[in-house]
Amino acid sequence: MRAGVEGIPSLDRLLRDDALAAPLTQFGRDEVTRALRVHLNALREQAQAGALDAAQLANNAIAAAITAGLHRRHRANLRAVFNLTGTVLHTNLGRSPLPEAAIEAVARAMRAPVNLEFNLDAGKRGDRDDLVAGLLLELTGAEAATVVNNNAAAVLLLLNTLANRREVIVSRGELVEIGGSFRIPDVMRSAGAKLVEVGTTNRTHRADYANAIGARTAMLMRVHTSNYAISGFTHSVALEELAHLGRERAVPVAVDLGSGSLLDLSQFGLPREPTVRDAIAAGADLVTFSGDKLLGGPQAGIVVGRADLISRIKKNPLKRALRVDKMTLAAFEAVLALYRAPDALRERLTALRLLTRPTQAIAAQAARLLPNLRNAVGAAFSVEPAPMSSQIGSGALPVDALPSHGFAIRPAAAKGGGLARLESALRALPRPVLGRLGDKTLWLDLRCLDESDEGEFVAQFAHLVR
Ligand SMILES: *Cc1c(COP(=O)(O)O)cnc(C)c1O
Repeated sequence: MRAGVEGIPSLDRLLRDDALAAPLTQFGRDEVTRALRVHLNALREQAQAGALDAAQLANNAIAAAITAGLHRRHRANLRAVFNLTGTVLHTNLGRSPLPEAAIEAVARAMRAPVNLEFNLDAGKRGDRDDLVAGLLLELTGAEAATVVNNNAAAVLLLLNTLANRREVIVSRGELVEIGGSFRIPDVMRSAGAKLVEVGTTNRTHRADYANAIGARTAMLMRVHTSNYAISGFTHSVALEELAHLGRERAVPVAVDLGSGSLLDLSQFGLPREPTVRDAIAAGADLVTFSGDKLLGGPQAGIVVGRADLISRIKKNPLKRALRVDKMTLAAFEAVLALYRAPDALRERLTALRLLTRPTQAIAAQAARLLPNLRNAVGAAFSVEPAPMSSQIGSGALPVDALPSHGFAIRPAAAKGGGLARLESALRALPRPVLGRLGDKTLWLDLRCLDESDEGEFVAQFAHLVR
């Protein structure tokens, strides 16, 4: 039934009506008033166009309409998603999910004052690095440690402290770019250091480094080529040999390890990455690595190594600008503590649990969820369970894929379309589902779908707009 402008209730009457009580409590008077004004204006325009239905004028209908809008407006910008992209440590999705122990530690640190820079034994000012330094030394065998915002910051700080206006020798095979925004030559320039490239892309020898050392040399640097592999006719100098050369010529040797595993991951069936302990044991003077790559912790950059060099790094004013906050330190300490029990690590450290999920378990999950997904996407698409390969991500171990399982979704008809629309509908769900489009297929890799999240995953298909 058509309705006219005269049937539209007044703002004041609506604000006093029980139908608006719930949104008023949740969003406050200002927000509800603003939403009502906009909605009532829209209703007036509809009435004038002769397109207003009387049912739209019920107080409940008005309340429902503005509540939906207010929910959309108040939805957080940073939201939990389902990462079904197949990349476990996805930089754009926040890399490593944190283990429960870290989440609890962060919550505690946020709720109450903490001894962030206060030494409780001495009763005086302390150093925030000390909160995690003990664990870091224990787990890496290094003499000293300092923590900054991320590994890019760690490299910048190290170079700026030890090599400002001086030269750093790096092999041509290691001038890497990570994720487009971190390139070794650019970081060198920002730090005020002069890059001296030696060797060739595929082969660098001890003599290449030795011949380049001069009066202006501040450091020999090794960069772990974490996101690509050079194979074939190759040669690089073993770290032991490089460290030996550095000691002989009194030039510090720094290693940017990137991922920086604290344990040999081959014991968990993953490919072997060099560990921080290995690099220290091989004689590196300083090692830098990320907190949120294979380590499985919060975003952070760590420098470990010789106490005299770390002490100089900590005195650089840039350290103050790059320092981490209490939440990062709370999470990092909790994650590092898990490494004291390597036997239980796979079960407790979320990133490791996802990386080592058995393929059969993922395949069984796919079989379990298949009817729900088929029902959700409807007859326009075929959904088939399919083997696929996950990647570790974050530039770690790029050549090693992890056998996984999931769904391959394709248009049901040979000339059917709409795959991009389906992909976007999945992204619009309350907890967005992110897959990967390729080969006219939408791939959903289930490796990162925790079994405890299956209920939420399935329940929200009711919201899928076909
Ligand atoms: C990832 C990486 C970086 C950058 O680390 P962030 O923690 O992302 O800042 C630097 N160097 C190497 C070798 C890396 O792999």
